[in-house]
Amino acid sequence: MSSKKGVVPRCRPWYDALLSERLWSRWSFFPIFLPVLHSCRNNRVTRKPYKIGMVSLGCPKNQVDAEQMMGVLAGSGFELTADQQEAEIIVVNTCGFIESAKEESIGAILEAANMKKRGKCRALVVAGCLAQRYKDELRKELPEADAIIGTAEVARIGEICEHALAGSGPLVRVAAPAMVYGLPRISTTPRHYRYLKIAEGCSNRCSYCAIPIIRGNFVSRPAASIIDEARKLADNGAKELILLAQDSTGYRDGTKDLPALLRSLARVNGIGWVRLMYAYPGRITDELMTVLAEEEKICRYLDIPVQHIDDKVLAAMNRRGTSDDIKRTIEKLRKRVPGIALRTSLITGFPGETEAAFKRLLSFVQETAFDHLGVFTYSPEEGTPAARLERQIAPEVAQERLDRIMKAQAKISLRKNRALIGTRAVILVDGLEDDALFGRLSSQAPEIDGAVYLSETEALPGEFVEVTITDASEYDLVGTSKDQEEEPTLPQDTEVTEEGKKQARGH
Ligand code: SF4
Repeated sequence: MSSKKGVVPRCRPWYDALLSERLWSRWSFFPIFLPVLHSCRNNRVTRKPYKIGMVSLGCPKNQVDAEQMMGVLAGSGFELTADQQEAEIIVVNTCGFIESAKEESIGAILEAANMKKRGKCRALVVAGCLAQRYKDELRKELPEADAIIGTAEVARIGEICEHALAGSGPLVRVAAPAMVYGLPRISTTPRHYRYLKIAEGCSNRCSYCAIPIIRGNFVSRPAASIIDEARKLADNGAKELILLAQDSTGYRDGTKDLPALLRSLARVNGIGWVRLMYAYPGRITDELMTVLAEEEKICRYLDIPVQHIDDKVLAAMNRRGTSDDIKRTIEKLRKRVPGIALRTSLITGFPGETEAAFKRLLSFVQETAFDHLGVFTYSPEEGTPAARLERQIAPEVAQERLDRIMKAQAKISLRKNRALIGTRAVILVDGLEDDALFGRLSSQAPEIDGAVYLSETEALPGEFVEVTITDASEYDLVGTSKDQEEEPTLPQDTEVTEEGKKQARGH
């Protein structure tokens, strides 16, 4: 944070927005106002329950915190409402990761503050990463907030809301970040797929990343509590568990490392799929590959954010491993785990990224042909070493490079999807979208990867059905459980490849 009083550093548009409140008009409740899908506890009603609305932003890890806060609130006699107008207390669970996320959080807070002026809202609680990172600025600039609480306060949200309601003056409670787990959760996803946090924080020190500043060093959650929660989620209808951490490959609880944890989770009754997200490329072990190859229930799917492939840029990012290491790991994964689907994340416009370095990244994307890929433009984050680096790249150049990668990836994704036409695949049905039933292959994570739209298929959300893939677009597929009299007509330049078949079968 800027030391010189009154001087707002360049990379702080979210703060300007807060100061100028110019966001009012744009944010008509943009963020997720979490619907209450399933309550886990009976309300102990001692008085008319106050209605609480939860707004949650950012990543699924933050979403799990919101689910825990909702579970605690429901168990503390509050009534959760999905109707903004009805909410007497609004909790905004913010994200503070990069600039655009901070601006979105400010928009949501100002919208909720506006509800205090014109709605039933009597108390506003600001929680999550932005509160953890900028408690003083928020305290100073947000008189509308009755409480500003850090990420370690999840379990105490009930008493914090009581305090906020009592109007006993602004409360700021931001302690050191901590791993909060084992609390009752109210599901915000369809009950058949659930996020499961296995660790908190991160001890890698990528030079551009503010997460260690916000969430602290890496802490693994006790394996017993993870497995216990997995059983509870399975009893509550979960069929797919999606494992979350900043760096899941850093997991270790005593002698139990990630491969051992995965084997235990694969033994939980009722669970059909276990999916691993956020694996650090330099930490993917032979044992992990063995588990991915051997365990039927562990999806042959891996999310490995590589961020870049140019060695100079990787070094400036303080990423462990060279471009050759990354390429070797991917090659080995594809050999050891046939049909594995790989997702990655990349950053364009990192300080010092030359056109030549970018071209290396683009060729890497074209050669590697990831199944799924997300690209972000570099966001200079105060407090991170990279924000002080020379040769910062103009945002429009970073955006233009992002567009070039996404254009290349669209072609790759279409080619890969077309290769699945005519294959049989097991789908986990997710639900209806505009009356179209849809689901996912084991090679598709929810909310970030494509989907399979189902025709002439009778099935309910949470069911596994076998279908034939009959059509493909860049990011989505079409399938049917109806037996195919004649082979589906394959687009011109497509043949049913062994790779496609392996992938469809998920092994
Ligand atoms: S591994 Fe991920 S969370 Fe950790 S410092 Fe690097 S980018 Fe941030």
